[in-house]
Amino acid sequence: DIRPLIAGNWKMNGTRAELDQIKAMAEGVKTPLSEKVETLLCPPATLLYVATALCDDSPLLIGAQDCHQKVSGAHTGDISAQMIADCFGTHVIVGHSERRGDHAETDHLVRAKAEAAHEAELTAIVCIGETLAERDAYQTLDVLKRQIFNSLPEGATAENTVIAYEPVWAIGTGLTPTNSDIEVAHAFMRAELVARLGGEGAAMRILYGGSVKPGNAGEIMAIENVDGVLVGGASLKADDFLAIYAAC
Ligand code: 13P
Repeated sequence: DIRPLIAGNWKMNGTRAELDQIKAMAEGVKTPLSEKVETLLCPPATLLYVATALCDDSPLLIGAQDCHQKVSGAHTGDISAQMIADCFGTHVIVGHSERRGDHAETDHLVRAKAEAAHEAELTAIVCIGETLAERDAYQTLDVLKRQIFNSLPEGATAENTVIAYEPVWAIGTGLTPTNSDIEVAHAFMRAELVARLGGEGAAMRILYGGSVKPGNAGEIMAIENVDGVLVGGASLKADDFLAIYAAC
C-alpha cells in the first residue's frame, strides 16, 4: 500500500504575515491520520528556513518549489538542492509547468534538477502534464510518456521521487478532468513507471494536481493510482489545506 502525500505549493505567494497559516497547518496535521498520510508544504524560498523551524515538532514536511541543477556557483538568483537541504527542506518540486513555461525549462533540464535533488538527498516531485492544445489534439498520453521518459532520472526510486500529474489547463482555472480521465491518465503513468523502473515504479507515488479543493479532494483521492494531491490555491489557507487533508 502506498502512503498518500498531500502537498501544498504556495508558488510566489506568502510573506512573514502568512507564517501563522504555516503554524496552523503544522498544528492541524497532528492527528492520528498523520501516520497514514504524509503532508508537505512548499512555501517560497524566502520562508523556507523559518517554516522548517515552525514545523520542528510537527509531521508537516517542508519543501522548495525549484532548484538549480548545480551545487553552487555563479548562477545569480538560483538556489541549489544542497541549500534546500541545509534549511531542513525534504522535498523539491521540479518541472512545474510554470517553470517550464516562464523559464523555458526542458525535459532534460528537469531531469538534471531531479538528479541534483537526489544528490542532496531530497525527494524530487517531478511535474508533468499536457496543455489544452495537446489535449484537444488527443496527445495527452504521448506527452505524459515523453515527459516521464525524458524527465525521470535513472536513479529514481519510490523513496526519492514522486510524480505529479498536473494538466496545465486545470491549474488555477477551477477546471478538472473527469474522474475517468484522471483514472486513465494515472493508469497509463503507472504502466510507464513499472515498465521503466519495475517494483520501484509500482510503488512510486503519482499525485494529481490542478484545481484541487476541499470539495473535490476526497473523490479525486479515491481514484485508482492517485496517491495524493499537489494543491496550489487551496493550500494558501490552513483551513482549506487541513480540510483537504481530512478528506483523504
Ligand atoms: P491550483 O491548485 O491553484 O490549480 O494549482 C495547482 C498547482 O499548480 C500545484 O502545483
